[in-house]
Amino acid sequence: MIGSIETLIQMAHENKCTIGHAMIQYEAKTKQISEKEVVEKMKHNWHVMKESVRTGLEEPKRSKGGLIGGEAKTLHDYCAVQPNLLSGRNIMEAVSYSLAVAEVNATMGRIVACPTAGSCGIVPGVLKKIQELDNLSDEQIAEALMTCAGVGMVIAHRASVSGAVGGCQAECGAASAMAAAAAVELRGGTPEQAGEACAMVIKNVMGLACDPVAGLVEVPCAKRNALGASLAMVMADMALSGVKSVIPVDEVITAMGAVGRSLPESLRETARGGLAVTPTGLALNKKIFGE
Ligand code: SF4
Repeated sequence: MIGSIETLIQMAHENKCTIGHAMIQYEAKTKQISEKEVVEKMKHNWHVMKESVRTGLEEPKRSKGGLIGGEAKTLHDYCAVQPNLLSGRNIMEAVSYSLAVAEVNATMGRIVACPTAGSCGIVPGVLKKIQELDNLSDEQIAEALMTCAGVGMVIAHRASVSGAVGGCQAECGAASAMAAAAAVELRGGTPEQAGEACAMVIKNVMGLACDPVAGLVEVPCAKRNALGASLAMVMADMALSGVKSVIPVDEVITAMGAVGRSLPESLRETARGGLAVTPTGLALNKKIFGE
């Protein structure tokens, strides 16, 4: 178990490589398999992720609870006709991809939990947009997924990646931090800059509640995937420009864990607080479950 981003950065420097490549070496050694096998497994995950983006955009369906479905396509279609998007084409297309995967999850379709099913759209949304932009190979994305894996491992160790333990900061926040670190590495940033992006993402989602309406991973989950994808891209660019987090990344993650533990139970996936208990949230719960 790797317990700090600082360790990931050291591993990368010792091996004169990215965090992603150092994680490939680590995984190969730990699992007693070749580095090629690690990359192949991640390429397989990447194919599933890309297919989930495609399915969400091309075959939109209403979710099991009926609360979401089709918004990814709506946004993607809007991006195609709007030449002057307020927040920029790259971000909004990444957001449409992340929504697509979240919608596929809500129809019980096939996704890669990354780190969880609720937050499954963020990493594929960001990485797919960067693959298109920079014409990257699936091998390069597989390495970036190992950057994500390293960051996710540290967050799970120092804090949590479970909404029931640490709120949505632990799910969509962790996914966004993973995606931001991978985005920095794909754009040629240093391991330190990957860590800064990770820190700056988590600082901005600190305390985010887990409050699923009717207890279903639909509302607000899909739109929190949109938040996570956009935040990852903004913070990756900030880190690449040289902006740093005043609080070191490992301290930020530890603080996130403490904040998560101090959240009331009503805001940790119980559907007893936040949006779940708004008049509309309660009415939807009644409509779906009749109680
Ligand atoms: S609100 Fe809760 S269930 Fe939904 S994505 Fe966030 S952590 Fe997961």
